[in-house]
Amino acid sequence: MCALVHELEAETGATGTVGIGMPGAISPASGVVKNANSTWLIGHPFHRHVERCLGREVRVANDADCFAVSEARDGAAAGRGLVFGVILGTGVGGGIAVDGRPLRGRNAITGEWGHIPLPWAQPSELPGRECWCGHNGCLETWLSGIGLECDHAEASGETLEPEEIVARAEAGDTAALATVERYEHRLARGLAMVINLLDPDAIVLGGGLSRIRRLYDTVPRLWGGWVFSDRVDTELLPPVHGDSSGVRGAAWLWG
Ligand SMILES: [Zn+2]
Repeated sequence: MCALVHELEAETGATGTVGIGMPGAISPASGVVKNANSTWLIGHPFHRHVERCLGREVRVANDADCFAVSEARDGAAAGRGLVFGVILGTGVGGGIAVDGRPLRGRNAITGEWGHIPLPWAQPSELPGRECWCGHNGCLETWLSGIGLECDHAEASGETLEPEEIVARAEAGDTAALATVERYEHRLARGLAMVINLLDPDAIVLGGGLSRIRRLYDTVPRLWGGWVFSDRVDTELLPPVHGDSSGVRGAAWLWG
């Protein structure tokens, strides 16, 4: 990483500011990394190592927070005051941007939506699959790519990649369509809870599963069933910068 910074600076002849989007967070209490799914980072003062190597302050934030910041600054939700960014990928995470800045929180865990249990769970959804965090039925176990795959396999006996399930659903395959509809129902419940708690102006989806185009139509039609309001004006938006938003948001930490 330090070599990359030095290389860029040699190329441009400028001295840059450095922002890093990372999994997990720097614990405000201990000053070391926690919650990272890149588990080798856990327990280390990662940012201090980089600072020592570069000889300057670096700013770090959770990658989902960086995603939310990038999309709130000049992406899908540009100009919206309160934005919830969701990552639906290998894992499930979330971040909150207020006026284009990350909301870190007292424990630096703001937006950790993936490890909240699926709300309004039906009897058939309980207790839910075991999650790596130690609990059962976390939203991540339902809404990650692997979650979608497992749900389809349990219902149909067929193990397929998420892209294949979505393609088959679009082609009219009954079992695949049922899986996608269950996914939408669960995502709608998960986001209804966020709207009840945070009432954001916009929710932007990121990660591989954000490419399922029908979500932006079906999920807002469903979520009103659980939002405590006469109507819901929250926007559900696809990302503008997609996979680049993590690194763009990290750069915005200095902007
Ligand atoms: Zn969990």
